[in-house]
Amino acid sequence: MKLRLILGDQLNHEHSWFAHVDSDTVFVMMEVRQETDYVLHHAQKIIAIFAAMRDFARRLREAGHRVHYLAIDDADNRQSVPGNLDYLLAHYQASDFAWQAPDEWRLDQQLAAYAAGLSIPAHMDDTEHFYTARDEAARIFEGRQNWLMEHFYRRMRSKHGVLMSATGKPAGGQWNFDHDNREAWDGMPWEPADIRFRHDHSALWRTIQASGAKSFGEPNAASSAWPLNHEEALEQLERFVELALPHFGRYQDAMSVKAWRLFHSLLSFAMNVKLLSPRTVVERVEAAWRDGAVPVESAEGYIRQIIGWREYVRGVYWHRMPGYDELNAFDHQTPLPWWFWDGKTRMRCLAAAIGQSLEHAHTHHINRLMVIGNFALLAGLSPQALHRWYLGIYIDAFEWVELPNTLGMSQFADGGQLATKPYVSSAAYIARMSDYCKGCHYDKKARLGERACPYNALYWDFFDRNRDQLQGNHRLGMVFQQLKRMDDGALTALRERAADLRGRVAEL
Ligand code: FAD
Repeated sequence: MKLRLILGDQLNHEHSWFAHVDSDTVFVMMEVRQETDYVLHHAQKIIAIFAAMRDFARRLREAGHRVHYLAIDDADNRQSVPGNLDYLLAHYQASDFAWQAPDEWRLDQQLAAYAAGLSIPAHMDDTEHFYTARDEAARIFEGRQNWLMEHFYRRMRSKHGVLMSATGKPAGGQWNFDHDNREAWDGMPWEPADIRFRHDHSALWRTIQASGAKSFGEPNAASSAWPLNHEEALEQLERFVELALPHFGRYQDAMSVKAWRLFHSLLSFAMNVKLLSPRTVVERVEAAWRDGAVPVESAEGYIRQIIGWREYVRGVYWHRMPGYDELNAFDHQTPLPWWFWDGKTRMRCLAAAIGQSLEHAHTHHINRLMVIGNFALLAGLSPQALHRWYLGIYIDAFEWVELPNTLGMSQFADGGQLATKPYVSSAAYIARMSDYCKGCHYDKKARLGERACPYNALYWDFFDRNRDQLQGNHRLGMVFQQLKRMDDGALTALRERAADLRGRVAEL
């Protein structure tokens, strides 16, 4: 008998493993405390992954495959991947074992070590999901100190012929329409209705709770909205293309208390657990542009996130692990304040972004980067604590994509391998791109005083504190010129205000 392991984020029904039914092959799937407990997770994340796994197993069986599924409350469940494999390999007297390449370092190491100790043949297969191999970005940038996403992205566009003209030129005459993607949203056009399905996972949620697995956030078990299978993910993609994609480009960076989804696709969960292939998504979006249904800046902006950022951060992850998770270029050590777990802060932007995250296990990119991450970096919060929080709270968080985004892009903790400058701003940016500052306890314009927006003093103090590390960065020339022009008294007052804020983040 051959044993084939399918992990919870490997729900790719198009995989060649499933091309033929073979009665000598048992597919093994398992819900284990090892995976619920390695970090404190949002309840919706545990529910959605288990529900999608159960649906996947059911469909495999319906297609005639043999499946051994260990549910979280199964008496035979040893609650760890190696423990269950020991049991199952013996149970089936297996003569051959294979697994699909894990996307996380931790599981990759665990399975490689496990397989090395087996006395039967064992091998790893590809997941057949990504555009790139694990080491493709590293090969593209071989010998270069600094990597650039834009360079990688253009290579991907040319290599895969995405949004390219017949003469090899980028569609629309430009590689990148980022400058057209920076509009604030004033309430029009309306945010489309929620494009997702509803499922009642109350029974599953009770089982998860009974297992003792800890979690946080709103479970929303009676009306869960994350896709369970390929068909639902495809339908969500269709609704996104029709209703939201036409506006995606313009409002990609907009934020609002009135609309948490705006024009985003909410497809990251489906893609990351492999219910949906990035190629399917990219081809559908490109077709919509070719049909004239969406403007080029929307199609390009969206496709850049997938064949650009998504593949690129994965390349950074595999190049820099192990050890990437320990980097802390600014030596920031402050623990996360409690309001990361209840959203109760007087800063309205953070209350909104964290509140959405607790309610939906999701908030869109610019909230993650320019509200939550921005504050964490300016306030000197520990990037490792922040990494664990992001990894736990978001429905789409798997370390290969979450860690480079949090540690690299958002916290600059890798000293600038992933981002060319720290993504920080004062209140002015947040006020320009959102309605968060209206009605906030703090004054977005003031730098000093009890009611001054904390982002303002923290912003100048961040560059002042890190002059040695950052002033050589040519993208920051303007900031350091402004700092230079500031008189000593003003700078001292900002330093004092920032030190006070950093000393009492829990009270803000
Ligand atoms: P859309 O706005 O509709 O974008 C479309 C798709 O592009 C996404 O589904 C995603 O697959 C991809 N994408 C967009 N931006 C990125 C990016 N920076 N890196 C990789 N892929 C991207 N994304 C995750 O999938 N998992 C994470 O754990 C995660 N953690 C993040 C942490 C931080 C600090 C930041 C700044 C970003 C993080 N992102 C993460 C990227 C991005 O925020 C999410 O992919 C996006 O919000 C998912 O929602 P969506 O599907 O509606 O995205």
